[in-house]
Amino acid sequence: MTSPQPHITVIGAGIIGMATAAFLQRAGHQVTVVDRLPPGEGCSFGNAGGIAFGEIMPTIHPKIFTKIPGWLLDPLGPLTIRWRYLPKALPWFLAAARNTTSKRIAAITAARAALGLRAVADFETLLKAAGSHDLMVYRETLRVFDSKAQFEAEAEERRVKAEHGFSCEVFSGDEAREMEPALSPHISHGAFHGGWFFVKNPERVVKSLAAEFLRQGGKIIQDDVARIEVVDGKAKILQLKTGAPISLDRLVVCAGAYSHLLAKQLGDHALLEAERGYHIVLPNSGVSVSRSITYARTPGAATPMEMGLRLAGTDEFAGLDAAPNYKRADALYKVFKQIFPNLNEPDEQATRWMGRRPGTPDSLPVIGPSPRISNVWYGFGHGHMGLTWGPTTGRLLAEMISGKPQNIDMTAFRIDRF
Ligand SMILES: Cc1cc2nc3c(=O)[nH]c(=O)nc-3n(C[C@H](O)[C@H](O)[C@H](O)COP(=O)(O)OP(=O)(O)OC[C@H]3O[C@@H](n4cnc5c(N)ncnc54)[C@H](O)[C@@H]3O)c2cc1C
Repeated sequence: MTSPQPHITVIGAGIIGMATAAFLQRAGHQVTVVDRLPPGEGCSFGNAGGIAFGEIMPTIHPKIFTKIPGWLLDPLGPLTIRWRYLPKALPWFLAAARNTTSKRIAAITAARAALGLRAVADFETLLKAAGSHDLMVYRETLRVFDSKAQFEAEAEERRVKAEHGFSCEVFSGDEAREMEPALSPHISHGAFHGGWFFVKNPERVVKSLAAEFLRQGGKIIQDDVARIEVVDGKAKILQLKTGAPISLDRLVVCAGAYSHLLAKQLGDHALLEAERGYHIVLPNSGVSVSRSITYARTPGAATPMEMGLRLAGTDEFAGLDAAPNYKRADALYKVFKQIFPNLNEPDEQATRWMGRRPGTPDSLPVIGPSPRISNVWYGFGHGHMGLTWGPTTGRLLAEMISGKPQNIDMTAFRIDRF
């Protein structure tokens, strides 16, 4: 007789938590997910929809670092720090700076490339099982440039991507416009990113995984996890804000930008900042594009979604609780108006949103066991790439928890690296 599989509790019903719950369930475990919000209503709700597996360079690298001072002068620019928050964010930025040596950049790039290897296949596994495979659009995202100098400034990045097997096709401005006639005549060059598809509705992706998880016998509890109780080196009880305590067999923390707070309760330390991003959705954009488009002048993406054209991006360091500044969402309209001359002004149907990316200073997530608490695993810190790497993270965690080998080296993702 075989002993029953351990029961697993997952904190967080974002893309990471739901993908982890789904892969654990596929491995035969009974799984309960706890989240204070309904599935897919945290950061995973409003991202740009990019399955951007070719984005292997770290988010913060030396070239970005040189641009930061200029960006910081503009409160509506691509990156902003609310000045009162700076002392709190300083350790994170110092760690980010330490990760910009060429040796660290090479190691981080290799680890990100490894995570991207099976991103699409793992996504397909979950979407097909959930009956929502139609949400994935297999059309390469187009990057557009204003000038030859801007295009050539990214030649090295394209070379590194190609070296890792993520080749970027390049185009003239006319070829880019042939693909996407809505683009401005001033666009001089285009390029694919080396691997970047998109989904038509990121919220529906997570909700469809949650629906399938429930159909297969999983349980979702909507409540706030107030405290994790540890007894004899094991996480034993989840104290909830309103519901009855949950007794724990094994626990996985996938709580997005809040994960470090839960890890701290367990004695584990992670440097995590909420990299707050914004979107504006224009149901009446007046622009028709067949793919997601990024603009080299400023970070962000314009993605055609079920609900309209979603302009998403920007990075704001202001902590978890500061009120959103929706002027940053409107600033995205001004950015994309530069490349889509016919883009209509936001009307009363336009919607704005802010989400907290769980960002680490080395642009790598935490995936793996707690070194202190023997029945706890972590899956968080995916920053700008959580949608892309969510399903792969879920598979890797399910393999680890089930005692199976992983297809990639997991060292770079350990929590005790901070
Ligand atoms: C503007 C923008 C654009 C982006 N574009 C892309 C993109 O194109 N491609 C890409 O791959 N990624 C993108 N991202 C990043 C991606 O959205 C995130 O990395 C991803 O959503 C993180 O998923 P998560 O499951 O870790 O977090 P979340 O979705 O935030 O889920 C965590 C969950 O944990 C719950 N939780 C936390 N603490 C507790 C507690 N104590 N008790 C109960 N519940 C708790 C929260 O309620 C939340 O639902 C973008 C992000 C933004 C903001």
